[in-house]
Amino acid sequence: MTTTLERIAPFQNEVIKSFTDPADIAAMRAALATVKATFGKEYPLVIDGKRIETEKKIRSVNPADPSQVVGIVSSASKEQALQAVDAAARAFESWKRLPAHERAGYIFKAAALMRERRFEYDALLVYEVGKSWPEADGDIAEAIDFLEFYAREALRYAQPQPIVPVPGEQNEMVYIPLGVGAVIPPWNFAGAIMAGMTAAAIVAGNTVVLKPSSDSAVVAAWFVDMLTEAGVPNGVVNFIPGSGSEIGDLVVAHPRIRFISFTGSKEVGLHINELAAKPQPGQKWIKRVVAEMGGKDSIVVAADADIDAAVEGVVISAFGFQGQKCSACSRAIVDAAIYDDFVERVRARVAKIAVGDPTDNGNYMGPVVNAGALKSISEYIEIGKREGRLVSGGKRVGETGYFLEPTVIADVAPDARISQEEIFGPVLAIVKANDFDHAIEIANNTEFGLTGSIYTTDERKIERAREDFFVGNLYFNRKSTGALVGAHPFGGFNMSGTDSKAGGRDYLLLFLQAKSMSRKLG
Ligand code: NAD
Repeated sequence: MTTTLERIAPFQNEVIKSFTDPADIAAMRAALATVKATFGKEYPLVIDGKRIETEKKIRSVNPADPSQVVGIVSSASKEQALQAVDAAARAFESWKRLPAHERAGYIFKAAALMRERRFEYDALLVYEVGKSWPEADGDIAEAIDFLEFYAREALRYAQPQPIVPVPGEQNEMVYIPLGVGAVIPPWNFAGAIMAGMTAAAIVAGNTVVLKPSSDSAVVAAWFVDMLTEAGVPNGVVNFIPGSGSEIGDLVVAHPRIRFISFTGSKEVGLHINELAAKPQPGQKWIKRVVAEMGGKDSIVVAADADIDAAVEGVVISAFGFQGQKCSACSRAIVDAAIYDDFVERVRARVAKIAVGDPTDNGNYMGPVVNAGALKSISEYIEIGKREGRLVSGGKRVGETGYFLEPTVIADVAPDARISQEEIFGPVLAIVKANDFDHAIEIANNTEFGLTGSIYTTDERKIERAREDFFVGNLYFNRKSTGALVGAHPFGGFNMSGTDSKAGGRDYLLLFLQAKSMSRKLG
Protein backbone atom coordinates (compact mmCIF):
# COMPACT_ATOMS: atom_id res chain seq x y z
CA MET A 1 0.00 0.00 0.00
CA THR A 2 2.86 2.37 0.80
CA THR A 3 4.19 1.96 -2.69
CA THR A 4 0.74 2.67 -4.15
CA LEU A 5 0.49 6.02 -2.39
CA GLU A 6 4.06 6.86 -3.25
CA ARG A 7 3.44 6.17 -6.92
CA ILE A 8 0.62 8.71 -7.11
CA ALA A 9 1.49 12.34 -7.86
CA PRO A 10 1.13 14.63 -4.84
CA PHE A 11 -2.21 16.40 -4.56
CA GLN A 12 -2.49 19.71 -6.40
CA ASN A 13 -5.44 22.09 -6.55
CA GLU A 14 -7.22 22.54 -9.85
CA VAL A 15 -6.71 26.05 -11.22
CA ILE A 16 -10.00 27.96 -11.24
CA LYS A 17 -10.76 29.50 -14.62
CA SER A 18 -11.06 33.28 -14.90
CA PHE A 19 -12.64 32.97 -18.37
CA THR A 20 -10.31 35.49 -19.97
CA ASP A 21 -8.87 32.87 -22.35
CA PRO A 22 -10.92 32.87 -25.61
CA ALA A 23 -10.71 29.07 -25.75
CA ASP A 24 -12.34 28.79 -22.30
CA ILE A 25 -15.01 31.31 -23.27
CA ALA A 26 -15.83 29.39 -26.46
CA ALA A 27 -15.91 26.07 -24.57
CA MET A 28 -18.23 27.51 -21.94
CA ARG A 29 -20.61 28.94 -24.56
CA ALA A 30 -20.74 25.55 -26.27
CA ALA A 31 -21.36 23.81 -22.92
CA LEU A 32 -24.19 26.23 -22.07
CA ALA A 33 -25.86 25.30 -25.38
CA THR A 34 -25.31 21.57 -24.80
CA VAL A 35 -26.78 21.67 -21.30
CA LYS A 36 -29.70 23.85 -22.39
CA ALA A 37 -30.61 21.17 -24.91
CA THR A 38 -31.09 18.75 -21.98
CA PHE A 39 -33.64 20.96 -20.18
CA GLY A 40 -36.68 19.01 -19.05
CA LYS A 41 -34.83 15.69 -18.97
CA GLU A 42 -36.04 13.20 -16.37
CA TYR A 43 -33.70 11.77 -13.72
CA PRO A 44 -34.65 8.59 -11.82
CA LEU A 45 -33.85 7.41 -8.30
CA VAL A 46 -30.94 4.97 -8.10
CA ILE A 47 -31.39 2.13 -5.61
CA ASP A 48 -29.03 -0.85 -5.76
CA GLY A 49 -28.07 0.26 -9.25
CA LYS A 50 -31.68 0.17 -10.47
CA ARG A 51 -33.02 3.34 -12.11
CA ILE A 52 -36.52 3.97 -10.74
CA GLU A 53 -38.97 6.57 -12.07
CA THR A 54 -41.57 7.75 -9.57
CA GLU A 55 -44.82 9.60 -10.04
CA LYS A 56 -43.92 12.32 -7.60
CA LYS A 57 -41.35 14.67 -9.14
CA ILE A 58 -39.05 17.50 -8.16
CA ARG A 59 -38.83 20.19 -10.84
CA SER A 60 -35.45 21.85 -10.62
CA VAL A 61 -35.81 25.26 -12.26
CA ASN A 62 -33.45 28.00 -13.43
CA PRO A 63 -33.60 30.76 -10.78
CA ALA A 64 -32.79 33.34 -13.49
CA ASP A 65 -35.95 32.25 -15.34
CA PRO A 66 -38.08 29.84 -13.33
CA SER A 67 -40.16 28.97 -16.40
CA GLN A 68 -37.13 26.96 -17.57
CA VAL A 69 -37.12 23.47 -16.06
CA VAL A 70 -33.50 22.33 -15.86
CA GLY A 71 -34.50 18.79 -14.98
CA ILE A 72 -37.33 16.70 -13.55
CA VAL A 73 -36.09 14.45 -10.79
CA SER A 74 -37.97 11.49 -9.31
CA SER A 75 -38.83 11.97 -5.64
CA ALA A 76 -38.44 8.97 -3.34
CA SER A 77 -41.29 7.70 -1.19
CA LYS A 78 -40.73 6.57 2.40
CA GLU A 79 -40.73 2.97 1.24
CA GLN A 80 -38.10 3.67 -1.40
CA ALA A 81 -35.96 5.48 1.17
CA LEU A 82 -36.09 2.34 3.34
CA GLN A 83 -35.19 0.19 0.31
CA ALA A 84 -32.20 2.47 -0.32
CA VAL A 85 -30.92 1.97 3.23
CA ASP A 86 -31.33 -1.82 2.84
CA ALA A 87 -29.46 -1.74 -0.48
CA ALA A 88 -26.60 0.23 1.10
CA ALA A 89 -26.47 -2.25 4.00
CA ARG A 90 -26.17 -5.19 1.59
CA ALA A 91 -23.52 -3.48 -0.53
CA PHE A 92 -21.49 -2.62 2.58
CA GLU A 93 -20.68 -6.30 3.15
CA SER A 94 -18.58 -6.51 -0.01
CA TRP A 95 -17.49 -2.86 -0.45
CA LYS A 96 -15.90 -2.74 3.01
CA ARG A 97 -13.66 -5.69 2.08
CA LEU A 98 -12.15 -4.08 -1.01
CA PRO A 99 -8.59 -2.92 -0.53
CA ALA A 100 -8.33 0.87 -0.15
CA HIS A 101 -6.43 1.24 -3.41
CA GLU A 102 -9.30 -0.30 -5.36
CA ARG A 103 -11.83 2.04 -3.81
CA ALA A 104 -9.48 4.99 -4.38
CA GLY A 105 -9.12 3.88 -8.01
CA TYR A 106 -12.85 4.40 -8.61
CA ILE A 107 -12.66 7.89 -7.11
CA PHE A 108 -9.60 8.85 -9.18
CA LYS A 109 -11.51 7.66 -12.25
CA ALA A 110 -14.53 9.78 -11.24
CA ALA A 111 -12.23 12.82 -10.85
CA ALA A 112 -10.88 12.24 -14.36
CA LEU A 113 -14.41 12.00 -15.80
CA MET A 114 -15.47 15.18 -14.03
CA ARG A 115 -12.39 17.00 -15.32
CA GLU A 116 -13.28 15.91 -18.88
CA ARG A 117 -16.80 17.30 -18.50
CA ARG A 118 -15.83 20.34 -16.48
CA PHE A 119 -17.44 22.93 -18.75
CA GLU A 120 -20.71 21.01 -18.86
CA TYR A 121 -20.79 20.74 -15.07
CA ASP A 122 -19.98 24.47 -14.90
CA ALA A 123 -22.83 25.24 -17.31
CA LEU A 124 -25.24 23.10 -15.31
CA LEU A 125 -24.47 25.10 -12.13
CA VAL A 126 -25.04 28.36 -14.03
CA TYR A 127 -28.54 27.15 -14.90
CA GLU A 128 -29.48 25.14 -11.83
CA VAL A 129 -28.35 27.46 -9.00
CA GLY A 130 -27.54 30.75 -10.75
CA LYS A 131 -23.74 30.78 -10.46
CA SER A 132 -21.60 33.11 -12.55
CA TRP A 133 -19.07 31.31 -14.78
CA PRO A 134 -16.08 31.67 -12.43
CA GLU A 135 -18.20 30.77 -9.38
CA ALA A 136 -19.49 27.66 -11.15
CA ASP A 137 -15.98 26.68 -12.18
CA GLY A 138 -14.71 27.24 -8.63
CA ASP A 139 -17.41 24.86 -7.36
CA ILE A 140 -16.53 22.11 -9.88
CA ALA A 141 -12.78 22.62 -9.40
CA GLU A 142 -13.35 22.10 -5.68
CA ALA A 143 -15.41 18.97 -6.37
CA ILE A 144 -12.52 17.50 -8.40
CA ASP A 145 -10.09 18.54 -5.65
CA PHE A 146 -12.16 16.73 -3.02
CA LEU A 147 -12.18 13.52 -5.09
CA GLU A 148 -8.43 13.67 -5.66
CA PHE A 149 -7.67 14.62 -2.06
CA TYR A 150 -9.88 12.06 -0.29
CA ALA A 151 -8.75 9.22 -2.57
CA ARG A 152 -5.16 9.94 -1.48
CA GLU A 153 -6.29 10.21 2.12
CA ALA A 154 -7.88 6.75 1.95
CA LEU A 155 -4.52 5.36 0.86
CA ARG A 156 -2.76 7.21 3.68
CA TYR A 157 -5.13 5.88 6.34
CA ALA A 158 -4.66 2.36 4.95
CA GLN A 159 -0.91 2.50 5.56
CA PRO A 160 0.55 0.82 8.67
CA GLN A 161 -0.11 3.16 11.58
CA PRO A 162 2.67 4.11 14.01
CA ILE A 163 2.36 2.11 17.23
CA VAL A 164 4.71 1.98 20.24
CA PRO A 165 6.54 -1.40 20.10
CA VAL A 166 6.17 -3.76 23.07
CA PRO A 167 8.62 -6.70 23.46
CA GLY A 168 6.93 -10.06 22.98
CA GLU A 169 3.93 -8.62 21.14
CA GLN A 170 3.04 -7.83 17.57
CA ASN A 171 0.74 -4.81 17.66
CA GLU A 172 -1.16 -2.92 15.02
CA MET A 173 -3.99 -0.47 14.63
CA VAL A 174 -6.06 -0.30 11.49
CA TYR A 175 -8.81 2.04 10.34
CA ILE A 176 -12.03 0.38 9.23
CA PRO A 177 -15.24 1.92 7.84
CA LEU A 178 -18.31 2.68 9.93
CA GLY A 179 -21.19 1.27 7.88
CA VAL A 180 -24.15 2.87 6.13
CA GLY A 181 -24.29 6.66 6.09
CA ALA A 182 -26.77 9.34 5.14
CA VAL A 183 -25.24 12.11 3.05
CA ILE A 184 -27.28 15.32 3.11
CA PRO A 185 -25.70 18.25 1.25
CA PRO A 186 -26.93 21.83 0.66
CA TRP A 187 -27.57 23.46 -2.73
CA ASN A 188 -25.01 26.26 -2.49
CA PHE A 189 -21.86 24.28 -3.31
CA ALA A 190 -24.03 21.95 -5.31
CA GLY A 191 -21.06 20.21 -6.91
CA ALA A 192 -18.28 20.44 -4.35
CA ILE A 193 -20.00 19.69 -1.05
CA MET A 194 -22.28 17.02 -2.51
CA ALA A 195 -19.40 15.25 -4.27
CA GLY A 196 -16.95 15.78 -1.39
CA MET A 197 -19.17 14.35 1.34
CA THR A 198 -20.20 11.39 -0.83
CA ALA A 199 -16.68 10.58 -2.00
CA ALA A 200 -15.15 10.83 1.48
CA ALA A 201 -17.76 8.43 2.87
CA ILE A 202 -17.40 5.77 0.18
CA VAL A 203 -13.67 5.89 -0.39
CA ALA A 204 -13.30 5.15 3.32
CA GLY A 205 -15.29 1.94 2.74
CA ASN A 206 -18.79 2.99 3.75
CA THR A 207 -21.93 2.86 1.64
CA VAL A 208 -24.47 5.68 1.54
CA VAL A 209 -27.86 7.02 0.73
CA LEU A 210 -27.50 10.43 -0.87
CA LYS A 211 -30.40 12.82 -0.38
CA PRO A 212 -29.60 15.95 -2.37
CA SER A 213 -31.17 19.36 -1.95
CA SER A 214 -34.24 19.74 -4.17
CA ASP A 215 -32.74 22.98 -5.55
CA SER A 216 -29.72 21.16 -6.95
CA ALA A 217 -30.90 17.60 -7.53
CA VAL A 218 -29.86 17.50 -11.20
CA VAL A 219 -26.14 17.99 -10.58
CA ALA A 220 -26.33 15.27 -7.93
CA ALA A 221 -28.03 12.96 -10.47
CA TRP A 222 -25.20 13.66 -12.96
CA PHE A 223 -22.64 12.83 -10.29
CA VAL A 224 -24.30 9.55 -9.32
CA ASP A 225 -24.43 8.51 -12.99
CA MET A 226 -20.76 9.40 -13.30
CA LEU A 227 -19.85 7.21 -10.31
CA THR A 228 -21.62 4.32 -12.05
CA GLU A 229 -19.61 5.05 -15.18
CA ALA A 230 -16.44 5.07 -13.08
CA GLY A 231 -17.34 1.52 -12.02
CA VAL A 232 -18.57 2.08 -8.46
CA PRO A 233 -20.63 -1.08 -7.74
CA ASN A 234 -24.41 -1.11 -7.31
CA GLY A 235 -25.69 -0.18 -3.85
CA VAL A 236 -22.61 1.78 -2.77
CA VAL A 237 -24.32 5.12 -3.50
CA ASN A 238 -28.11 5.11 -3.48
CA PHE A 239 -29.75 8.26 -4.79
CA ILE A 240 -32.97 9.34 -3.12
CA PRO A 241 -34.04 12.93 -3.77
CA GLY A 242 -37.08 13.96 -1.75
CA SER A 243 -38.52 16.04 1.02
CA GLY A 244 -36.21 16.65 3.98
CA SER A 245 -38.95 16.40 6.56
CA GLU A 246 -40.43 13.23 5.03
CA ILE A 247 -37.62 10.94 3.92
CA GLY A 248 -34.81 12.96 5.55
CA ASP A 249 -36.14 12.33 9.04
CA LEU A 250 -36.90 8.71 8.22
CA VAL A 251 -33.36 8.03 7.02
CA VAL A 252 -31.68 9.93 9.88
CA ALA A 253 -33.71 7.98 12.46
CA HIS A 254 -33.21 4.59 10.75
CA PRO A 255 -31.53 2.08 13.10
CA ARG A 256 -29.28 0.78 10.30
CA ILE A 257 -27.78 4.24 9.69
CA ARG A 258 -24.39 4.50 11.38
CA PHE A 259 -23.47 8.09 10.51
CA ILE A 260 -24.95 11.26 9.09
CA SER A 261 -22.88 13.67 7.05
CA PHE A 262 -24.81 16.92 6.85
CA THR A 263 -24.08 20.42 5.57
CA GLY A 264 -26.80 23.05 5.67
CA SER A 265 -28.61 25.42 7.99
CA LYS A 266 -28.26 25.55 11.76
CA GLU A 267 -31.93 24.73 12.24
CA VAL A 268 -31.86 21.54 10.17
CA GLY A 269 -28.43 20.53 11.53
CA LEU A 270 -29.58 20.79 15.13
CA HIS A 271 -32.77 18.90 14.32
CA ILE A 272 -30.76 16.07 12.70
CA ASN A 273 -28.34 15.98 15.63
CA GLU A 274 -31.23 15.62 18.08
CA LEU A 275 -33.03 12.98 16.03
CA ALA A 276 -29.86 10.96 15.51
CA ALA A 277 -29.07 11.00 19.24
CA LYS A 278 -32.16 8.96 20.11
CA PRO A 279 -31.47 5.23 19.80
CA GLN A 280 -34.08 3.28 17.86
CA PRO A 281 -35.20 -0.32 18.49
CA GLY A 282 -32.54 -2.61 17.03
CA GLN A 283 -29.89 0.11 16.85
CA LYS A 284 -26.48 -1.08 18.05
CA TRP A 285 -24.38 2.08 17.98
CA ILE A 286 -24.24 5.76 18.77
CA LYS A 287 -24.72 7.49 15.42
CA ARG A 288 -21.93 9.78 14.42
CA VAL A 289 -23.15 13.17 13.22
CA VAL A 290 -20.97 15.52 11.23
CA ALA A 291 -22.96 18.74 10.85
CA GLU A 292 -21.53 21.79 9.15
CA MET A 293 -23.95 24.67 9.52
CA GLY A 294 -24.45 28.41 9.03
CA GLY A 295 -22.32 31.47 9.57
CA LYS A 296 -22.38 35.17 10.29
CA ASP A 297 -18.95 36.00 9.05
CA SER A 298 -17.15 39.26 9.76
CA ILE A 299 -14.33 41.17 8.17
CA VAL A 300 -12.62 43.53 10.59
CA VAL A 301 -11.02 46.60 9.03
CA ALA A 302 -8.45 48.24 11.31
CA ALA A 303 -7.57 51.95 11.17
CA ASP A 304 -4.15 51.09 9.69
CA ALA A 305 -5.50 48.82 6.90
CA ASP A 306 -4.95 49.24 3.18
CA ILE A 307 -8.48 50.54 2.65
CA ASP A 308 -8.71 49.80 -1.07
CA ALA A 309 -7.69 46.19 -0.50
CA ALA A 310 -10.18 45.92 2.38
CA VAL A 311 -13.02 47.35 0.28
CA GLU A 312 -12.28 44.88 -2.51
CA GLY A 313 -12.03 41.93 -0.08
CA VAL A 314 -15.27 42.86 1.68
CA VAL A 315 -17.25 43.40 -1.54
CA ILE A 316 -16.05 40.16 -3.18
CA SER A 317 -16.71 38.18 0.01
CA ALA A 318 -20.14 39.74 0.53
CA PHE A 319 -21.53 39.57 -3.02
CA GLY A 320 -19.78 36.67 -4.79
CA PHE A 321 -22.52 34.13 -5.63
CA GLN A 322 -25.04 36.66 -4.27
CA GLY A 323 -23.76 36.24 -0.72
CA GLN A 324 -25.00 32.63 -0.64
CA LYS A 325 -21.83 31.11 0.79
CA CYS A 326 -21.53 29.98 4.39
CA SER A 327 -18.21 31.89 4.34
CA ALA A 328 -19.69 35.10 2.88
CA CYS A 329 -18.86 38.35 4.65
CA SER A 330 -22.13 39.58 6.05
CA ARG A 331 -20.64 42.12 8.47
CA ALA A 332 -17.82 44.60 7.94
CA ILE A 333 -16.65 45.84 11.33
CA VAL A 334 -14.75 49.05 10.74
CA ASP A 335 -12.64 51.26 12.99
CA ALA A 336 -14.34 54.63 13.60
CA ALA A 337 -11.22 56.48 12.41
CA ILE A 338 -11.75 55.32 8.80
CA TYR A 339 -15.45 54.44 8.92
CA ASP A 340 -16.97 57.21 6.77
CA ASP A 341 -14.29 56.87 4.10
CA PHE A 342 -14.73 53.07 4.05
CA VAL A 343 -18.52 53.23 3.70
CA GLU A 344 -18.25 55.67 0.80
CA ARG A 345 -15.66 53.55 -0.99
CA VAL A 346 -17.82 50.42 -0.54
CA ARG A 347 -20.80 52.29 -1.99
CA ALA A 348 -18.76 53.36 -5.03
CA ARG A 349 -17.39 49.83 -5.57
CA VAL A 350 -20.80 48.14 -5.23
CA ALA A 351 -22.26 50.55 -7.81
CA LYS A 352 -20.03 48.83 -10.38
CA ILE A 353 -21.51 45.35 -9.79
CA ALA A 354 -23.56 44.08 -12.73
CA VAL A 355 -26.59 41.95 -11.77
CA GLY A 356 -28.31 39.78 -14.36
CA ASP A 357 -28.58 36.44 -16.14
CA PRO A 358 -25.43 34.48 -15.27
CA THR A 359 -25.28 32.88 -18.71
CA ASP A 360 -23.85 36.30 -19.67
CA ASN A 361 -20.30 36.33 -18.30
CA GLY A 362 -20.49 40.12 -17.95
CA ASN A 363 -22.80 39.74 -14.95
CA TYR A 364 -20.99 39.42 -11.63
CA MET A 365 -24.15 38.61 -9.67
CA GLY A 366 -26.93 36.24 -10.73
CA PRO A 367 -30.22 35.40 -9.02
CA VAL A 368 -30.75 34.05 -5.50
CA VAL A 369 -31.66 30.39 -5.48
CA ASN A 370 -35.46 30.33 -5.20
CA ALA A 371 -38.63 32.26 -4.40
CA GLY A 372 -38.35 31.43 -0.69
CA ALA A 373 -34.84 32.89 -0.53
CA LEU A 374 -35.98 36.02 -2.41
CA LYS A 375 -38.77 36.51 0.13
CA SER A 376 -36.72 35.90 3.26
CA ILE A 377 -33.77 38.05 2.09
CA SER A 378 -36.19 40.85 1.12
CA GLU A 379 -37.69 40.68 4.62
CA TYR A 380 -34.22 41.02 6.14
CA ILE A 381 -33.59 44.05 3.90
CA GLU A 382 -36.72 45.69 5.33
CA ILE A 383 -35.56 44.89 8.86
CA GLY A 384 -32.13 46.28 7.95
CA LYS A 385 -33.60 49.53 6.69
CA ARG A 386 -35.11 50.03 10.13
CA GLU A 387 -31.98 48.91 11.95
CA GLY A 388 -29.48 51.01 9.95
CA ARG A 389 -28.96 53.34 6.98
CA LEU A 390 -29.45 51.95 3.47
CA VAL A 391 -26.30 52.87 1.52
CA SER A 392 -26.98 50.98 -1.69
CA GLY A 393 -29.34 48.46 -3.23
CA GLY A 394 -32.37 47.18 -1.36
CA LYS A 395 -34.59 46.31 -4.32
CA ARG A 396 -35.50 43.40 -6.54
CA VAL A 397 -34.13 43.56 -10.10
CA GLY A 398 -36.64 42.75 -12.87
CA GLU A 399 -39.65 40.52 -12.39
CA THR A 400 -38.76 37.25 -14.05
CA GLY A 401 -35.90 35.76 -12.06
CA TYR A 402 -35.02 35.96 -8.40
CA PHE A 403 -32.59 38.88 -8.72
CA LEU A 404 -31.74 41.28 -5.91
CA GLU A 405 -29.49 44.32 -5.86
CA PRO A 406 -26.31 44.08 -3.81
CA THR A 407 -27.44 45.74 -0.61
CA VAL A 408 -25.32 47.64 1.91
CA ILE A 409 -26.69 48.84 5.22
CA ALA A 410 -24.41 51.00 7.40
CA ASP A 411 -24.60 52.20 11.00
CA VAL A 412 -25.84 48.82 12.20
CA ALA A 413 -25.66 48.14 15.94
CA PRO A 414 -23.61 45.07 16.94
CA ASP A 415 -26.67 43.37 18.44
CA ALA A 416 -29.12 44.25 15.63
CA ARG A 417 -30.87 41.31 13.99
CA ILE A 418 -29.08 41.84 10.66
CA SER A 419 -25.82 41.78 12.62
CA GLN A 420 -26.70 38.50 14.35
CA GLU A 421 -28.80 36.28 12.08
CA GLU A 422 -27.65 34.48 8.94
CA ILE A 423 -29.36 36.14 5.94
CA PHE A 424 -27.73 34.04 3.20
CA GLY A 425 -28.09 36.63 0.47
CA PRO A 426 -26.48 39.78 -0.95
CA VAL A 427 -26.80 41.93 2.17
CA LEU A 428 -23.81 43.51 3.91
CA ALA A 429 -24.12 45.18 7.32
CA ILE A 430 -21.44 47.73 8.25
CA VAL A 431 -20.81 48.14 11.96
CA LYS A 432 -18.70 50.93 13.50
CA ALA A 433 -16.16 49.91 16.17
CA ASN A 434 -14.53 52.33 18.63
CA ASP A 435 -11.13 50.68 18.19
CA PHE A 436 -9.54 47.33 17.34
CA ASP A 437 -10.34 45.67 20.70
CA HIS A 438 -13.96 46.67 20.29
CA ALA A 439 -13.94 45.29 16.72
CA ILE A 440 -12.75 41.87 17.92
CA GLU A 441 -15.37 41.90 20.67
CA ILE A 442 -18.09 42.59 18.07
CA ALA A 443 -16.68 39.96 15.69
CA ASN A 444 -17.13 37.33 18.43
CA ASN A 445 -20.61 38.40 19.49
CA THR A 446 -22.74 35.96 17.48
CA GLU A 447 -23.54 32.30 18.12
CA PHE A 448 -21.60 31.34 14.97
CA GLY A 449 -17.86 30.95 14.35
CA LEU A 450 -17.21 29.95 10.75
CA THR A 451 -14.94 32.35 8.84
CA GLY A 452 -13.48 35.76 9.56
CA SER A 453 -10.88 38.06 8.15
CA ILE A 454 -8.98 41.12 9.28
CA TYR A 455 -7.34 43.83 7.26
CA THR A 456 -4.42 45.46 9.06
CA THR A 457 -0.79 46.39 8.54
CA ASP A 458 0.00 45.96 12.23
CA GLU A 459 1.62 42.63 13.23
CA ARG A 460 0.37 43.03 16.83
CA LYS A 461 -3.21 43.12 15.61
CA ILE A 462 -2.63 39.96 13.60
CA GLU A 463 -1.24 38.29 16.73
CA ARG A 464 -4.22 39.47 18.75
CA ALA A 465 -6.65 38.08 16.15
CA ARG A 466 -4.79 34.75 16.06
CA GLU A 467 -5.47 34.46 19.78
CA ASP A 468 -8.93 35.94 20.15
CA PHE A 469 -10.89 35.94 16.86
CA PHE A 470 -12.88 32.73 17.44
CA VAL A 471 -13.60 31.22 14.02
CA GLY A 472 -12.70 27.96 12.31
CA ASN A 473 -11.18 29.71 9.28
CA LEU A 474 -9.38 32.99 9.88
CA TYR A 475 -7.82 35.03 7.09
CA PHE A 476 -5.45 38.02 7.13
CA ASN A 477 -5.54 40.73 4.47
CA ARG A 478 -7.63 38.62 2.10
CA LYS A 479 -11.25 37.74 1.44
CA SER A 480 -13.13 35.39 3.77
CA THR A 481 -14.35 33.09 0.98
CA GLY A 482 -12.61 30.68 -1.40
CA ALA A 483 -11.12 28.03 0.91
CA LEU A 484 -8.93 25.66 -1.10
CA VAL A 485 -8.95 21.90 -0.51
CA GLY A 486 -5.81 20.84 1.32
CA ALA A 487 -4.63 24.42 1.88
CA HIS A 488 -7.48 25.76 4.04
CA PRO A 489 -9.21 22.82 5.78
CA PHE A 490 -12.73 24.12 6.29
CA GLY A 491 -15.22 24.04 9.16
CA GLY A 492 -16.58 26.26 11.89
CA PHE A 493 -16.87 26.62 15.66
CA ASN A 494 -19.91 27.07 17.89
CA MET A 495 -23.25 26.94 16.04
CA SER A 496 -21.40 26.84 12.72
CA GLY A 497 -20.96 23.13 13.23
CA THR A 498 -18.73 20.28 14.27
CA ASP A 499 -15.56 21.79 12.77
CA SER A 500 -15.02 18.73 10.59
CA LYS A 501 -12.39 20.50 8.47
CA ALA A 502 -13.41 19.35 5.02
CA GLY A 503 -10.39 19.13 2.74
CA GLY A 504 -8.05 18.51 5.67
CA ARG A 505 -6.11 15.54 7.00
CA ASP A 506 -8.58 14.87 9.84
CA TYR A 507 -11.65 14.69 7.63
CA LEU A 508 -11.55 11.05 6.51
CA LEU A 509 -11.17 9.96 10.12
CA LEU A 510 -14.77 11.05 10.64
CA PHE A 511 -15.84 8.18 8.34
CA LEU A 512 -13.60 5.57 9.99
CA GLN A 513 -13.12 3.79 13.30
CA ALA A 514 -9.86 2.40 14.60
CA LYS A 515 -9.35 -1.24 15.52
CA SER A 516 -6.38 -2.17 17.68
CA MET A 517 -4.95 -5.70 17.53
CA SER A 518 -2.27 -7.31 19.65
CA ARG A 519 -0.73 -10.76 19.22
CA LYS A 520 1.46 -12.49 21.79
CA LEU A 521 4.68 -13.73 20.22
CA GLY A 522 6.57 -16.88 21.09
P1 NAD B 1 -30.91 23.43 4.56
O1 NAD B 1 -30.59 23.18 5.98
O2 NAD B 1 -32.22 24.02 4.24
O3 NAD B 1 -30.84 22.06 3.73
C1 NAD B 1 -29.67 21.26 3.71
C2 NAD B 1 -30.05 19.84 3.33
O4 NAD B 1 -30.84 19.28 4.37
C3 NAD B 1 -30.89 19.76 2.06
O5 NAD B 1 -30.48 18.63 1.31
C4 NAD B 1 -32.29 19.54 2.61
O6 NAD B 1 -33.13 18.87 1.71
C5 NAD B 1 -31.99 18.69 3.83
N1 NAD B 1 -33.04 18.65 4.86
C6 NAD B 1 -33.94 19.59 5.19
N2 NAD B 1 -34.71 19.16 6.23
C7 NAD B 1 -34.26 17.93 6.57
C8 NAD B 1 -34.62 16.96 7.55
N3 NAD B 1 -35.61 17.18 8.41
N4 NAD B 1 -33.94 15.79 7.60
C9 NAD B 1 -32.93 15.55 6.75
N5 NAD B 1 -32.54 16.42 5.79
C10 NAD B 1 -33.20 17.58 5.69
O7 NAD B 1 -29.71 24.32 3.97
P2 NAD B 1 -29.54 24.88 2.50
O8 NAD B 1 -30.51 25.99 2.27
O9 NAD B 1 -29.52 23.77 1.51
O10 NAD B 1 -28.06 25.47 2.57
C11 NAD B 1 -27.76 26.72 3.09
C12 NAD B 1 -27.20 26.59 4.50
O11 NAD B 1 -26.07 25.75 4.48
C13 NAD B 1 -26.71 27.92 5.07
O12 NAD B 1 -27.09 28.00 6.41
C14 NAD B 1 -25.20 27.81 4.94
O13 NAD B 1 -24.48 28.61 5.84
C15 NAD B 1 -25.00 26.36 5.19
N6 NAD B 1 -23.72 25.90 4.66
C16 NAD B 1 -22.73 25.60 5.54
C17 NAD B 1 -21.49 25.19 5.08
C18 NAD B 1 -20.37 24.86 6.03
O14 NAD B 1 -19.38 24.29 5.60
N7 NAD B 1 -20.49 25.21 7.29
C19 NAD B 1 -21.28 25.07 3.70
C20 NAD B 1 -22.32 25.36 2.83
C21 NAD B 1 -23.54 25.76 3.32
